[in-house]
Amino acid sequence: MKETPVEILMVEDSEADIKLAQVALKKAKLINNLHIVKDGHSAIQYLKRGRGFENSTRPDLILLDLNLPRLNGHEVLKAVREDPDLTSLPVVVLTTSDADKDIINSYRLHANCYITKPVELDKFMEVVQNIEHFWVKIVKLPPKD
Ligand SMILES: [Mg+2]
Repeated sequence: MKETPVEILMVEDSEADIKLAQVALKKAKLINNLHIVKDGHSAIQYLKRGRGFENSTRPDLILLDLNLPRLNGHEVLKAVREDPDLTSLPVVVLTTSDADKDIINSYRLHANCYITKPVELDKFMEVVQNIEHFWVKIVKLPPKD
């Protein structure tokens, strides 16, 4: 069976975390393309192919930070779940927050899972690789049309 790349959209404003995720995903050696947007507004524009993102690739999986400029992660998640065309997209919340209200709110908005970023760099990379391994190798993602 030919493997098609898994398209991952990372919504993250921390340059350091973006770099680490890129290194981690490269090391994991699974076939994927990582797309990055750095604020909530751009995330929605990317997903809806709005201005500046007319040719964006539809992601198979979204890694979503919560504390973001312009619109926060919860607002992005809400917009995804309210759009019939996007609602089935798996969303992994990946954030520094471990506040109960953020966790509850994320699941209320139908996040597929909630992960608090480990502060240690190597642990963070390990988590990113584990996310990818689970979502790419184990999970059945919605079929592409
Ligand atoms: Mg952030």
